[in-house]
Amino acid sequence: MTAPSPLHLNSGSPQRFSVVVVGAGPAGLTVGNILRAAGVDCLVLETETREFIEQRPRAGVIEEWAVRGLERRGLARNLVQRAQTHTECEFRFAGERYRFEYTELTGRHHFIYPQQFLVTDLVREYADVRGGEIRFGVRDVRLNGPESGRPSVSYVCPESGERRVVAADFVAGCDGARGVTRASLPPGRARLARHDYGVGWLALLAEAPPSSDCVVFGMHPCGFAGHMARSPEVTRFYLQCPPGDDPENWSHDRVWAELRERLGAAGAPPLKEGRLIERRVLDMHGYVVEPMAFGRLFLAGDAAHLTAPIAAKGLNLALHDAFLLGDGLVASLTKGEDSGLSRYSAACLARVWDYQEFSQWLAEMYHGTASGDPYRAGAALARLRRLFDSPVAAAWFAEQYLGVRTTG
Ligand code: FAD
Repeated sequence: MTAPSPLHLNSGSPQRFSVVVVGAGPAGLTVGNILRAAGVDCLVLETETREFIEQRPRAGVIEEWAVRGLERRGLARNLVQRAQTHTECEFRFAGERYRFEYTELTGRHHFIYPQQFLVTDLVREYADVRGGEIRFGVRDVRLNGPESGRPSVSYVCPESGERRVVAADFVAGCDGARGVTRASLPPGRARLARHDYGVGWLALLAEAPPSSDCVVFGMHPCGFAGHMARSPEVTRFYLQCPPGDDPENWSHDRVWAELRERLGAAGAPPLKEGRLIERRVLDMHGYVVEPMAFGRLFLAGDAAHLTAPIAAKGLNLALHDAFLLGDGLVASLTKGEDSGLSRYSAACLARVWDYQEFSQWLAEMYHGTASGDPYRAGAALARLRRLFDSPVAAAWFAEQYLGVRTTG
């Protein structure tokens, strides 16, 4: 495929692009790819190196609607060939196993594909196939005049140490939870709604094949534990821990002993253990920035909202935003149609709040048992039982877990 010709030539100083995308995560790279497919010139700025982002492990559970959205935009070739598909999940409680067959209820499944593989595919397509411009390792990125008609982004070039200024028609703020675009808004322009779950999760990656053919959630008086396949060789595990806990408190032996205890159940195959290649504590919280659009700045993905990995929704939301933003920018820049951009914030936030609420619901079921409060523990068990006693509750859970109700 040859690179489409740009709508605007980049010349003079400052440089000018139709769109500057800040951040080369799943959101930014998807927006960039959609723009390039339509022949829109854009620049992606990323603080890390290409090698780093292609190896950064995070998510792995991708909802079917998101894969179909990538597929329609020519971005899922490797994913569809290489991903595993999951059709059920398993809850473990009080030594018993409860298998939940969500594909049977919905006809939909999950794709399991490590986030770093997706990022690798998206960078290659954007930079090497679609001829998109991307600058890695940039420093001290600053956004100027986001609400003016002429925003610009500046950064320090890693090679020369000089500050470069890039003018843009639009800026896509896709720089994740710790980026600069959200922080560049004038005070009082955005409302940040935040929820702290009051627990930490020790996020682990083990060089070990999955111990089950599906995701496993363990609800145990010592705390929640989770098992999620990432690839045939690597498995992600989670262990609930105090917020702010030091990963150094969790030796190899302690981790595996806790996982065996919390995920133990009658008839369950033994855990396949291996070297721990990631050990970090995540303080479980979520936030939502409203609105997600300010003049010519559009926030997408974790820059606008964080969903604790409780329900594995963050990557999916980032892709949803990116589809709407990419399509909206293309319509505006190539046809002068602004309705997609006008609706962008409200359309994203509907799904964002839906997933936030589901995460909160699920969090109570996962953490109630270990809360030390018999009332919360009893309610958590009632929540779990209902999924297996009530076809209506089961159908609702399957829809939410797969994100099929709010499609788009
Ligand atoms: P990011 O992936 O954070 O990308 C932002 C990019 O911007 C990064 O490359 C960063 O280096 C760059 N950047 C930062 N600051 C700047 C700057 N100033 N200038 C330029 N670039 C900048 N989600 C799921 O859906 N399913 C899961 O199973 C799941 N599991 C997870 C497990 C863990 C341990 C974690 C941490 C997260 C998990 N998530 C999951 C969440 C998911 O990884 C994120 O929601 C997703 O990465 C968001 O994508 P993004 O593009 O918005 O942001």
